[in-house]
Amino acid sequence: STLIELAGVEKVYRTGKLEYRALRGVDLSIARGEMVAVVGPSGSGKSTFLNVITGIDRPTVGAVTIDGTCLDDLSEEELAVWRGANVGIVFQFFQLLPTLSALENAALPLDFLRRGSKRDRFEQARHNLEVVGLGDKVDHLPAELSGGEQQRVAIARALAADPGLIVGDEPTGNLDTVTADEMFQLFLRLNRDGKTILFVTHDRDLAARARRVVEIRDGRVVGE
Ligand code: ADP
Ligand code: ADP
Repeated sequence: STLIELAGVEKVYRTGKLEYRALRGVDLSIARGEMVAVVGPSGSGKSTFLNVITGIDRPTVGAVTIDGTCLDDLSEEELAVWRGANVGIVFQFFQLLPTLSALENAALPLDFLRRGSKRDRFEQARHNLEVVGLGDKVDHLPAELSGGEQQRVAIARALAADPGLIVGDEPTGNLDTVTADEMFQLFLRLNRDGKTILFVTHDRDLAARARRVVEIRDGRVVGE
């Protein structure tokens, strides 16, 4: 069944009098359980594409519907809560809070959603750190972890609220090839466990191992 539906999506950024059409009419659907790599040259609109799917950006024209929810119908506040509960996001530069431990970072989405007691949140976060293979480093600060380990914490954080969709914006872009490969294996495992996964990558080899590859050029989907 369809999880993500983009219909006639355009995104125009305005900076003063300048306009830039980052997305120029994107129609695409992604089924539940798919693993999709998004590729394309720098500046082609890949991040914008992800951002309209996670509701970080709103389309200028067109509609994004995720699991039956049309994001345009949600206020900013509703969108933030919807995103917290339904989407896990992983970034190239991890974006962990440097003063919080791995456990505290991994619990953040649950704190935001006020889901369960503090104790339940930490238990869930600890479980997710075990899932990503970091059960022995829950008390480490980000600076005490390698790049690959920091990305594992970010994945545990993305899993916190048990979202159906995991989105990665160059999640392996800052990792060496061996670590990137481990991260990809982890994505494959999460996908096998039922998560829908969508990630941008510049790595042609990794993209080729995803079950579906969407190519974006100049704001349009030009190939699959
Ligand atoms: P990619 O991820 O493929 O590198 P992006 O989606 O980041 O591409 O950007 C697509 C185009 O939109 C680029 O030309 C970029 O400069 C422009 N753009 C992205 N975000 C903004 C913004 N917030 N304001 C103005 N222009 C933007
Ligand atoms: P890499 O060079 O591969 O990014 P690091 O040398 O940063 O890895 O880290 C190697 C290992 O040492 C990691 O498992 C990390 O958790 C641990 N480590 C690094 N810095 C610290 C620290 N300040 N305190 C405790 N453990 C650390």
